[in-house]
Amino acid sequence: MFRIAVLPGDGIGPEIVPEAVKVLRACSGLFGLDFTFTEAPVGGAAIELTGHPLPEETLALCRGSDAIILGAIGGPRWDHLPLERRPEAAALLPLRKELGLFANLRPVELYEALLDASPLKQEVIAGTDILVVRELTGGLYFGEKRREQIPGGERAIDTLVYTSSEIERIGRLAFEAARSRRKLLHSIDKANVLESSRLWREVMERLQKEYPDIELKHMYVDNAAMQLVNWPKQFDVIVTENMFGDILTDQASVLTGSIGMLASASIGGQVALYEPAHGSAPDIAARNEANPLATILSAGLMLRFSFNHEAAARAIEEAVARVLADGYRTRELMQPGCRELGTAEMGDRVVEALLKLKEGSL
Ligand code: NAD
Repeated sequence: MFRIAVLPGDGIGPEIVPEAVKVLRACSGLFGLDFTFTEAPVGGAAIELTGHPLPEETLALCRGSDAIILGAIGGPRWDHLPLERRPEAAALLPLRKELGLFANLRPVELYEALLDASPLKQEVIAGTDILVVRELTGGLYFGEKRREQIPGGERAIDTLVYTSSEIERIGRLAFEAARSRRKLLHSIDKANVLESSRLWREVMERLQKEYPDIELKHMYVDNAAMQLVNWPKQFDVIVTENMFGDILTDQASVLTGSIGMLASASIGGQVALYEPAHGSAPDIAARNEANPLATILSAGLMLRFSFNHEAAARAIEEAVARVLADGYRTRELMQPGCRELGTAEMGDRVVEALLKLKEGSL
C-alpha cells in the first residue's frame, strides 16, 4: 500500500489537486495499485486554520508518507505578512529543505495538439523535449536575508550561497539524467559575474570527467533565456541553480502552450513531492477554469519515480494527449474549434480516456 499526502494549498490548489487524486484513484483500479490519501493544510490555508503555514502535523504527515502531491501556495491575502510567516517563504521552502528535496525535475514536453497554442512559431518549437534539473534547496532563496538602516534610507541584503557538495549532487543527478536521454547537458550559470557560478562551472567540469559520454555545454543565463525561445530544440537536459531554474522554467512553459501544462517532481530525500510548476493563480481561483493537467501529469511523475510504475505513468500521459487531441481545452488554452471544459470536467475526461486506453479501445 502506498501512502500519499495530499496538500491542496491555496488559490487554485483545492481545485486542481482533487483532479490529480481522481486520476490516481482511477489508476489504482486499472493497474491494481493500492493508495491511501491523507489531506493536510499548508500555506495560507494552514495559516487560517492553525496560525502557521507549515503546521508540525503537516510536516509529520509528509515525512510518514510514500509521496506527496501539492497544489500551490500563497496569495494576496497573505502578501502583507513578514517573510518568516509568508506561505511561500515559511512553508514551501522549509518543506523542500526539511524533506531534503534538492532536485526539481521539470520536463518540458510538447503535446502535438497544442503545437499551435504557443505564441511561438510551430517550426521553432516542434520537436522540443527538454528536462530542466533545477537545484531546489540552495542559492538566493535560502541564503541569509536582512534589512539595515543606512543614512538616508534602508539596505536590503540577500545572500547567494552554494557549496561544492551541493553543486556536485545536483550535477551528478543531471549527468545521470542526460545519460538516459540524448547525452547532452547544458549547465546554465552567470560565471562572468557571480562567484557562486564560477564554482558551479568548475564543479560541472570536474564531474564531466566522470561522464565522458555526456557532452557538457556552459551557457550564461541571459543567453539561455534568449536561446530557449529562439532555438529550444538545441537543449536536452538543462541543469541550473535555484532562481535561474525558477525563472527559466516559467519561460519554457510558453513552449508547451500554457504554464498549466508543466509538471514537476522534487526528489532527493526519502519522500518525493509532486506539484505543478505554476503558482496558486489567485486571479482565476474558485472559477472552475484552472487547467489541472500539470497537476495530473505530476501525479504521473509520482507513479514513475516514487512507485516505479512506468505503465501507469505512460497511460496518464497518453490519456492527456488523447483528451487534447479530441479538442478539449481549459480556458487559457481555448482556440476556435475546440471545446472548453472546466477544471473538474477536464479531470473527468482524463479518467475516461484512461479507462478507454486500458480497454484497448483507443
Ligand atoms: P502563477 O503561476 O500563480 O500565475 C501566473 C499566471 O498563470 C496567471 O495569469 C495565472 O492565472 C496563470 N496560471 C497559473 N496556473 C494556471 C493553471 N493551472 N491554469 C490556467 N492558468 C494558470 O504565478 P503568480 O501570479 O506570480 O503567483 C501567484 C501566487 O502563487 C503568489 O502568491 C506566488 O508567490 C505563488 N506561487 C506559488 C508557487 C508554489 O506554490 N510552488 C509557485 C509560484 C508562485
